[in-house]
Amino acid sequence: MRALGTGMLIAVAFCAQAQDKRDVLYQVSTIDALLSGIYDSVATVDDVLDQGDIGLGTFDAADGEMMVLDGVVYQATFDGSMNVMPPSTGTPFMAVTHFVPDRVLDAPELENFAAFSAWLEGHLPSRNIAYAVRVDGHFANITYRSVPRQHKPYPPLIDVIRNQAVFERKEVEGTLMGFWCPTFMNGVNVAGLHLHFLSADRSVGGHVLNVSLKDAKVGIDDTNGWDVQLPMVPAYLNADLGADQGSDLKNAEQGGALPDASAH
Ligand SMILES: [Zn+2]
Repeated sequence: MRALGTGMLIAVAFCAQAQDKRDVLYQVSTIDALLSGIYDSVATVDDVLDQGDIGLGTFDAADGEMMVLDGVVYQATFDGSMNVMPPSTGTPFMAVTHFVPDRVLDAPELENFAAFSAWLEGHLPSRNIAYAVRVDGHFANITYRSVPRQHKPYPPLIDVIRNQAVFERKEVEGTLMGFWCPTFMNGVNVAGLHLHFLSADRSVGGHVLNVSLKDAKVGIDDTNGWDVQLPMVPAYLNADLGADQGSDLKNAEQGGALPDASAH
């Protein structure tokens, strides 16, 4: 990674076997750094795409939600538009893997995110590794959000979320992509299920707050490695990341403290 040439590398191999590089969850920065308001780019999306073709993240200055699908980086902006982003685009947080599903399942009708998450967890062979998840299908209902570009001094993410734009679509085709991570990854990534949405016509998308599955195929890709690039920038190095930000994370990622879920 050019932008992190002097960066610190933590590679965690969960087994003693020679590791397939394609089964690594690769990320730049940490979710706690993002929660703390560290929104300056630490890598270009081109750098990160070397490590995977599916994933999620955000952009410099927290400018919207990122979807990575089939190696293409999409930006869902606060005003509801969608852009395909060039390789030079910067990111403060991005997680990807090379998607090769270990199992593809037909999901039953599932009425909300919690029901889908519980169903998915019932099909995971272990709760102690991370998985990339790709859901292609028809959604009876989906609620998703994006966030506005921030200005310095950057506020913490929980304050950004208070001004999020929430969108809802009914009877829509599309793809959900993201990760299920074990509890012990909390703080570095999001424990549990974290998904972003991209419509089949590539016109809308964002961070998934709720979804009702009608007819969907679910691909699950086991990852047995975790590669975290920590940003060697003052904003990160000088941040106080010692606190447990679990409740802020829950509010920020799962919409637990939405002031107003009205559609924009
Ligand atoms: Zn998200």
